[in-house]
Amino acid sequence: MAGPCLRSRRMNVFVTGGAGYIGSVCVEMLLDEGHNVTVYDNLSEGHEDAVDPRALFIHARISDRSNINETVQDAAPDAIIHFAANSLVGESMKNPGKYFRNNVSNSLKVLDAAVEAGVKKFIFSSTAATYGIPEEMPITEETPTAPINPYGESKLAMEKFMRWYHEIHDLEYVALRYFNAAGASERFGEHHRVETHLIPNILQVALGQKDNCQIFGDDYPTPDGTCVRDYIHVLDLASAHILALQEGISGVFNLGNGDGYSVKEVVDACRRITGKGIEAIQQPRRPGDPPRLVADADKARQVLGWEPEHSGLDNIVETAWRWHSAHPNGYAK
Ligand code: UDP
Repeated sequence: MAGPCLRSRRMNVFVTGGAGYIGSVCVEMLLDEGHNVTVYDNLSEGHEDAVDPRALFIHARISDRSNINETVQDAAPDAIIHFAANSLVGESMKNPGKYFRNNVSNSLKVLDAAVEAGVKKFIFSSTAATYGIPEEMPITEETPTAPINPYGESKLAMEKFMRWYHEIHDLEYVALRYFNAAGASERFGEHHRVETHLIPNILQVALGQKDNCQIFGDDYPTPDGTCVRDYIHVLDLASAHILALQEGISGVFNLGNGDGYSVKEVVDACRRITGKGIEAIQQPRRPGDPPRLVADADKARQVLGWEPEHSGLDNIVETAWRWHSAHPNGYAK
């Protein structure tokens, strides 16, 4: 399998967005496995304290074309893992231009920098939002893509560009379509300046920082009427990126664990694990939310040799709760 051969080769990996939630955990895992890491992040969404001190940190913008080019040239990486992006469905429904500029136009600069520096591999954070409202469940990579929000559209555009760069420039690419990232490592967790994600919002109530959490929509065509998502532990996402470094692999892969939980089930799990009576208020639907997204990740298992190990809902909530309890203000000083 891939693991032993990867471990024997120390790689030079350039990580954009390495100060963000998933990026920080992936950087930690890369370093733990003996790789060299350069983090490139403008800290607009990320946090300096989320950058593992063993990495070389470059505080800069991917929109700065000459800087990203020079920095990638200097780092001469074996691979780029490109996390830097905006990732809020709701915000993308209000400000699509921000998503197309940053996630498409600026990401293209990183892709071009990879080609110009002769980088062999490009690993890209994609999303289940590329599927829109799929007719079949669970979702495979063959399920038609039809995003229903600009965030999903921006990621799908990059996937299409990467396929052509692979064909024309011979750049290997791996697009990882994350389902719902959640949980924390011992050191790094989820802290968005504007927190829209379900689990951290619920845990803020358990921490006593808010009076209640909100449930967006109870009239979806799901068993309890609330949206169903496939929550995948951030450590499992990180390990998929490391497996994606293997030579000779290109393509699109779903990363989920195949279990769907409704918003109400997640609220209940948080109540049980924190022991707090978290109040939940019913609200109207949030624009851009598909009713149900559950992954078939067999392709990642077969081709990458990936096996999610941390992704039971209880473990996700327990690790998130541990991190938020230890860092009630996240990375804020
Ligand atoms: N959600 C909710 N209350 C919140 C945040 C999210 O009911 O405070 C719902 C949201 O409508 C969606 C699900 O929880 O159905 C997961 O949302 P999240 O923003 O965590 O991830 P997304 O699926 O948008 O990537």
